Amino acid sequence: MIAKIFRELKAFLSMRSLQTRMFLVVLVAGLVPSVIMRYGILGSYEERSVQQRISTVQNQLMIVGNHLISNNYFNTKPEGYTSSVSREVIDAELEMISNLYEGRVMIIDSGLKVLKDTYGISEGKTIISEEVIKCFQGQITNNYDSEHGYIEMTTFITDAGSDTGEIIAVMLTSISNESIAANLEVLGRNALILESLMIVVIVAMAIVLSVVMTRPFNRVTEAINEVKAGYRDESIFVQGYAETDHIVDAFNQLLKRMRTLDNSRQEFVENVSHELKTPMAAIKVLADSLLAQGDAPAELYREFLEDIASEIDRENQIITDLLALVKMDKKAQELNIVSLNMNELVELILKRLRPIARKKDVEVVFESIRPVVAEVDEVKMTLVMTNLVENAIKYNKEHGWVKVELDADHQYFIFKVSDSGLGIPEDSLAHIYERFYRVDKSHSREIGGTGLGLAITKSSVLMHRGSITVASVEGEGTSFTVKVPLIHTVGNAVLAAERV
Ligand code: ADP
Repeated sequence: MIAKIFRELKAFLSMRSLQTRMFLVVLVAGLVPSVIMRYGILGSYEERSVQQRISTVQNQLMIVGNHLISNNYFNTKPEGYTSSVSREVIDAELEMISNLYEGRVMIIDSGLKVLKDTYGISEGKTIISEEVIKCFQGQITNNYDSEHGYIEMTTFITDAGSDTGEIIAVMLTSISNESIAANLEVLGRNALILESLMIVVIVAMAIVLSVVMTRPFNRVTEAINEVKAGYRDESIFVQGYAETDHIVDAFNQLLKRMRTLDNSRQEFVENVSHELKTPMAAIKVLADSLLAQGDAPAELYREFLEDIASEIDRENQIITDLLALVKMDKKAQELNIVSLNMNELVELILKRLRPIARKKDVEVVFESIRPVVAEVDEVKMTLVMTNLVENAIKYNKEHGWVKVELDADHQYFIFKVSDSGLGIPEDSLAHIYERFYRVDKSHSREIGGTGLGLAITKSSVLMHRGSITVASVEGEGTSFTVKVPLIHTVGNAVLAAERV
């Protein structure tokens, strides 16, 4: 249990885990928008508040500016005068603005001299500031310094009496943004609390989602493990996603293939045992009956011993064929490829087989359509050709014929063996390449067949990346056609051989 938890934890921490990736994706997808929203909302609140504050203060300053002009604060009208009362009123107004916004208001005349400073420290001094100069040129400025927490702005006062609307003074005002900052802080704190809550919810969601979403994959693994552990051997069924369905389908197909392979292997072993036991049983019967006879005549001994010898030959033949087949499976890649004159090879094989044909009074004809040179494994190709021609002779009628043709195109050579023999029933055609399959067991046995010849032949042909086809009419004859590439390409010969 602990090991399982540890394993799952390790898998979760590994970036290769789908669960971890899903968790991270949900987490990022949830958190990024919330962080963007927080900074976006707080930022736009700050900007809007500053703008609002600037326009409110500027409005108030304009009103004060008008008061300054109407009360002839700057003594611009020769007939006008500024009473100390109205000066006090205006000063009080300025004080009020600077108190209200926790700031400082300075009135600067066109000679850049400070006429009024609500802080009272710069009055009478000259101020040289870019903003002030710009403002005298008619450009109202404002500047927000969030780092030091103040807003600085300039507004000009024009002489309402003059036709030109000349700027006679500039108000340089700086106000604190403390209240905005305080609001921002409260908002930020609230947003942080909300964000923390959201993080908890998103993390929980990410965990739940990543666990739930990957569950079908875990169910597939569990089902496969059950098969592996041997709890079940039939196909698995897991309801999940289309992707898991594909995995399950592929696994079931693999399972089916493995089961078929296992069955065929079992069948093969059964067949081998059976085939090997048959001659042994015959030998035993022959020996027992000789022993039971006691004083049997010498001719009978000779006859029985001849039968025993032929059974031993048969046993030998089966073992030789089996070894050839096993060797072919094991050394599938080890083809000893040489460039060979195929016409000569066929001639040689036919020379060896003609005596057998003669015994059965079967005529063997070779039609060499063109000279063929191909890259083949000589031993294996000899096996192919010998098996096919031998079968054509073996399963032939008296006075029958066998025709061997050799042809080639630019890519393949074609080796065709036709006979006037017994033919193969249609329902047997699909089985003739199976190990130990014989159409007529007793007849084949009589002839000396083991049922392994065509299995060896097909395996050899596939190793050469070629093909073998058969056409047959029962009672009329059979023809096998082998097509093999002239040039051997190193490829997946093992796979080809496994397909047998
Ligand atoms: P065997 O050693 O019995 O000949 P094979 O694998 O070579 O085994 O052939 C399998 C079976 O296919 C044979 O038993 C025979 O019944 C049938 N067969 C093969 N070649 C021919 C043929 N040319 N004509 C008729 N039947 C054939």
